[in-house]
Amino acid sequence: MRKGIAVSPGVAIGNAYCIHEVFVDPHRVHIEPSEVAQELARFENARKKSIADLRGLQEKVEKQVGKDAAAVFAVHESILLDAALVDKVRGWIQNERLSAPAALARLVEYYRDLLNRTEDPYLQERLADIRDVVERLTAYLSPVLQKDSKVLEGPTIVVADELLPSQAVMLGKKPVHGIVTESGSQTSHAAIIARSRGIPAVCGVTGILKQVKNGDLIIVDGREGHVLVNPDPEVVAAYRKLEREFFDLRDQLAHNRDQSAVTADGVSLQLLANINGPADAKAAAAMGACGIGLYRTEYLYLTHPSVPGEEEQLQVYRRVVALSPNHRVTIRTLDIGGDKTVPFLGRENREANPFMGWRSIRLSFEHPEFFLSQIRAILRAAAPTEEIPDPDVNIMFPMVTTIEELRRLRAIVRRAERQLQEQGKEYAKVDFGMMLEVPAAAVMIDQMVESVDFVSIGSNDLIQYLMAADRDNPRVNHLCQPLAPAVLRVLENVVRTCLKAHTPVTLCGEMAAHPQAFVLLLGMGLRSFSMSPSFIPTIKELAAHVSIDQAKELLQRAKHFKTTQRIHRMLNAELERLAPNLRPILMQ
Ligand code: PEP
Ligand code: MG
Repeated sequence: MRKGIAVSPGVAIGNAYCIHEVFVDPHRVHIEPSEVAQELARFENARKKSIADLRGLQEKVEKQVGKDAAAVFAVHESILLDAALVDKVRGWIQNERLSAPAALARLVEYYRDLLNRTEDPYLQERLADIRDVVERLTAYLSPVLQKDSKVLEGPTIVVADELLPSQAVMLGKKPVHGIVTESGSQTSHAAIIARSRGIPAVCGVTGILKQVKNGDLIIVDGREGHVLVNPDPEVVAAYRKLEREFFDLRDQLAHNRDQSAVTADGVSLQLLANINGPADAKAAAAMGACGIGLYRTEYLYLTHPSVPGEEEQLQVYRRVVALSPNHRVTIRTLDIGGDKTVPFLGRENREANPFMGWRSIRLSFEHPEFFLSQIRAILRAAAPTEEIPDPDVNIMFPMVTTIEELRRLRAIVRRAERQLQEQGKEYAKVDFGMMLEVPAAAVMIDQMVESVDFVSIGSNDLIQYLMAADRDNPRVNHLCQPLAPAVLRVLENVVRTCLKAHTPVTLCGEMAAHPQAFVLLLGMGLRSFSMSPSFIPTIKELAAHVSIDQAKELLQRAKHFKTTQRIHRMLNAELERLAPNLRPILMQ
């Protein structure tokens, strides 16, 4: 049994499907002499397709974002046309009988050695370009999940180093019952997607790829963070029982979708959903959310072959609004950077500290045309149409750090409105919200609330910045805890300040669905929560067992403890007492 970080609850049993690091296929490094011609042709085909892709991207990105952003694709194309480089790869396939992916892996190594010997940052950057190109080529060479239907028959447990957003999105359509990754933690995007799909998952299981091969029987216990490889039949039987219990309870709870969310003493709550696109909006409605509290638009960009234009964005936003409960959607502008990069904005993104660097609005500010096109699409999606006469659309900006930024954002929204007026396009005014995810903003919240219509606390980022612990690094995960006394103190102040100013406040980080944290937030006075759709029935059920007075009392008790562990222990015991029927589902 291996222990990792429990990131998406539930128990799953199935056969392993291993996704190895992009261009390393340890099972097949060498090819037979008879396969050389075919391998050369495969490489040539991948090269041609990649060149064609890059040319298309150059054209599109230049038109929509600008010449500078498109330049990176020209550089990548020139790498694929570089005869010396191409001959090297061909030579390794032909003379050393390396498979094409293995030859490309060697190419990266070759340049890494060469470039490591130089201090020149420009040349170092070339290595990043070569890696990018190799990844593009490899995508055409490797069997992708989608096509590998043989392995994906029956219940499958995906085992990967980390799950790229594009792979994770694809998983929704496959019989994936569980996910295990070597890296990542509760708030990494693979985990968020696993939760939104209701797939049990465990992250941070280092070395698991070396231990497991395709077809091995795997148990994923996403409540305890356990992964079992080829367990004994008795163990499997015991876990099958747990698996049934978990899903039965979840199905049973899903029946509460038509009831409104109220506490034991009848106080109404808003349980909203976090979504990544139209499919999740449907899930949000099915799970009984009363609206969408966070629409992460970056998935539209991450999974798009190039750049979505304004009209394309508008179509997608309208679909999301149409599918969302009460047609209520808070759309967050692009939050790229940190753990997520897109090709046309990716180049400058390779930074030593991406989470502290050029991400979110910091990046959007420097691509004004592109930023404006997103804001215009949001304002247009807020206008009533025949299909949606009553849209309730708001705009929200990620990573706001200063009041100057808020002023600048307001000005950009006004500019987008003026442009739409001039173009005679239908649009509507929207509420203007900030995500509170940077400690500096938490400190200044009393002044910042005056400049916004609403606040949404992004606890995933707020916690990582407050604790100075990377949310995706399993090694420091013990510090990224929503129940840490420092986190609770900051949150209590933010909620109090917003309530005093009569500024609506929501919390949309993963913490909203953490049962113990949820109760404390309730005690702080928070009444609006946004979470992965699959958690809504559980939190609704939990709320029905807790009164506001009890929540306040638990908060007071928690504040007396000096350590996360003591707070956790106290709340675990109390929750078991208050909602014993939820035992199989509560995360440990
Ligand atoms: C957050 O930071 O809490 C949040 C909701 O945003 P994301 O997880 O997309 O960074
Ligand atoms: Mg965030």
